[in-house]
Formats: sequence, structure tokens, C-alpha cells
Amino acid sequence: MFEALSDRLTGVFDRLSGRGVLSEKDIDEAMREVRIALLEADVALPVVREFIAKAKERATGEAVIRSVRPADQVIKITYDGLVEMLGGDEVEGLNLALNPPTIIMMAGLQGSGKTTTAGKLALRLSKDRKKVLLASLDTRRPAAMEQLAMLAKQAGVESLPIVPGQSAPDIARRAMQSAKLQGYDVLILDTAGRTTLDEAMMSEAAEIARISNPSETLLVADALTGQDAVRTAKAFHERLPLTGLVLTRADGDGRGGAALSMRAVTGLPIKFLGVSEKIDGLDAFDARRVAGRILGQGDVVALVEKAAQDIDIAQAEVMARKLAKGQFDLDMMAAQLSQMKKMGGMEGVMGLLPGVQKVKKQLAEANVSDKMLDRQAAIISSMTKAERKKPDILQASRKRRIAKGAGVDVAEVNRLLKQHRQMADVMKAMTKNGGKGLAQMAKALGG
Ligand code: GDP
Repeated sequence: MFEALSDRLTGVFDRLSGRGVLSEKDIDEAMREVRIALLEADVALPVVREFIAKAKERATGEAVIRSVRPADQVIKITYDGLVEMLGGDEVEGLNLALNPPTIIMMAGLQGSGKTTTAGKLALRLSKDRKKVLLASLDTRRPAAMEQLAMLAKQAGVESLPIVPGQSAPDIARRAMQSAKLQGYDVLILDTAGRTTLDEAMMSEAAEIARISNPSETLLVADALTGQDAVRTAKAFHERLPLTGLVLTRADGDGRGGAALSMRAVTGLPIKFLGVSEKIDGLDAFDARRVAGRILGQGDVVALVEKAAQDIDIAQAEVMARKLAKGQFDLDMMAAQLSQMKKMGGMEGVMGLLPGVQKVKKQLAEANVSDKMLDRQAAIISSMTKAERKKPDILQASRKRRIAKGAGVDVAEVNRLLKQHRQMADVMKAMTKNGGKGLAQMAKALGG
């Protein structure tokens, strides 16, 4: 169903992938193309707008992960947006009642695949060892009742015996009673559909919902009918206490936009996808799987997710290796300062460590503040590479130049250098005695 969209998006990402660094203009351009691709796939305009706004926010807000290509990061952002559009991480199963029988009511237009889906759900539930009763309330179409009885046979479950001449509410009552008396776990009510939305159908469905008070009221919609399916869902949702959606014909080659907009427009979770005419052709809906299928970039997404986790670990590993060799240069000090800031500044770092009230107080007394971290970072970045590696070469003239560059006075540069020497000593000690140097380090930081 998503092939055309998938192809378009692949094209967008391929064009990006040749570039090393992406400018804001590149990202804007890519997002414009993603926007067109979504609109062409028939995704509702407000849904597309929100998607693009959020994606841009993420693209500019996200920390740049150096170990992955920028284009891959754009893929990941698009993937995250699709997952969110489709309802996020929770895979919504069926809500089963605490006291059986659970009643599931099926609603939808005629031809949407409602009856077929009732049979598919029955099979699914009976595989879960539930005792299922199917009942057709379609009094106007005897053929629909027969169809459900046949589906019940295929699924290996019971269907309510047909009593000609009964009204739909009466059948619902009879079905509920049978289900209760005969110890069924689940009763599935297949309501009548019409080819178009009409008042008689709506009020009958609303009455059945009132009588049976279902745990699940599922709207079955044909994904191939595009935005019509979305409008239908909205109309049903206004009249019925819907709890979820089933999109049928996900195996067809429609444009898929209905499936993509449905959740955002109605606020209802998509619970299942109909994927074939066969009785077992029903998949639990999983936003990550569908987004992955659309992008066809599962590897990239996994890679970026892993890289985001790895980045801090990698930095820490490099640091540990250098430390083990007794090295602690100013670059490492700068990395540490920035790491501290990322973790929420001094407060954040200290908050992570147990029993540090005392250390915190010492730091406060020594006036170690986040502003100071910023100034220290500025001093280090005003140094040349050689100076950062070998601070010993820093003579008076170099110190004056650095102080000027960082907007501080020379005394502060001296303080930082002293602090660095102390930290280097502490680091050496720490690698030797396994981490006991924390208090010492705090003292060193206080200068
Ligand atoms: P109802 O009028 O809403 O009850 O619709 P039916 O259950 O009778 O389905 C109408 C037609 O759609 C039947 O031929 C089904 O086999 C077919 N159908 C239902 N669900 C799917 C699906 O997920 N994929 C495909 N390919 N066909 C389906």
C-alpha cells in the first residue's frame, strides 16, 4: 500500500546521502520534498503540516551525532515522525472485559470488510483459547448473516442461530444472553452497514452500543478509499463510542494516506490491519513496523539510535584510555566540562552521585558555578591545538592572548591551568586507586 510513498522518500534520502554536512537549506529542501511525498500519498493536509513542523524542530534541536551521516539523521527524524503520526510505541491489543463475556461491536460501511474482519478476530481470539460467539445483526441482508455463519465455521467458533424476523436490538439481547448463559469469553456483534453514511444506520448502531455496552467498538474502514475513509471515521466517531480502528485492504495498492492520517485525525488507535481476504489475514497494528516498511531503512534507524547511545560511551572510552596512560590534557578537560554541562551542569552531575552533599557544599563555597564552566570552556577554546596538548608552553604573552580571546583576565587563565594540573594529578591517582579521588577532584575544581 505504501510503495509509491516509499519510493519517493527513498529518492529524497538518496539525494541527501552524497553530502557530508547538511545546511539548514538542505534540510528545508528535503523536508519540502517529504511534504510533497506525503501529500501525494493522500495524507491529510493538517497532519502533514504538523509532521513537517515537528520534524524541522527535531532536525534543528537534535544534537549532531558525528559518527552518522547527516542524511541518516534526517531519515531517523522522518521515521520518528511517522511512528508518532501512526500512534507511537504502544501496540494496542483488544481490551478484554474483567467479567466475561467481553463484547466487541463491529461498525462500518457495507463493503468495508466488516464481516470478514469479525471472522478474522474470532479466529485470532480462539487461537488465544477464548470461547467466541459471533452474531450478525444485519437484518436487512440475510446473505450477510449466512456469510458470518460460514466465517464462524472457518474460524472454528460458534455463531448465533439465525431467527428470521427479529430486530437488530433483539438479536443483540439474545446474543448477550446466550453468551452469558453458555460461558462465552467473547461475543462479537457484527452490525449492519450501508453503502453510504445514513441516519437510520447510525441510530441503529448507537442503540446497539447502548444496549450492549461493548468493551470495544471497532470501526472497520477500507484503506483504499483514501480520504473518504477518514471522513467516514470522523462521522462514526461523532455518533458511536469508538475505541479503535481496523483498516482493511492494507494489501491493496492504494496510496496509503488514509492509513497515515486516520490516527491523527480521529485520535483513535489503529488496532489491526486487514492484509488479505483469507481468514488469517489480520495483523496487529504496530506503528514502528509500518513506519519501517514505508521508509525501508530499518538498518539506518537502528544505526542512528545506537550511535546516539554510543557517542557518550565512546567519549568516555577514549578518555579512559588516555587516563590509563596517565594523560590528561586540556582537550580532555574541555570534553569533561562540556559533558558536565550536557548532564545539567554541576548540579546535575553531583545529583547523580550518591552521598555528595558534602562535595556540593565544598563546591558552592569554592564558587564553582555553571557560569564558571562556560568561562573555562571559553579559555580552553582560545588556545591553539599545541597549547591544549602541552600547557607547559604557555608563557606570559600566550596567556595574554588567550585571556583576551576568552574575555577574561590573565589571573583566570592561570587559575584554570593550576586547576588542570591538579585535576591531572587527581586523575592519575584515581586510575591508580580505583575511584576514591572524588573529593580530591572536587577540591581541585574549586581551585
Ligand atoms: P462488509 O460488507 O463490510 O461486511 O464487507 P465484507 O466483509 O463482506 O468484505 C467485502 C470484500 O472485501 C470481501 O470480498 C472480502 O473478502 C474483502 N476483504 C475484506 N478485508 C480484506 C482485506 O484486508 N484485504 C483484501 N484484499 N480483501 C478484503
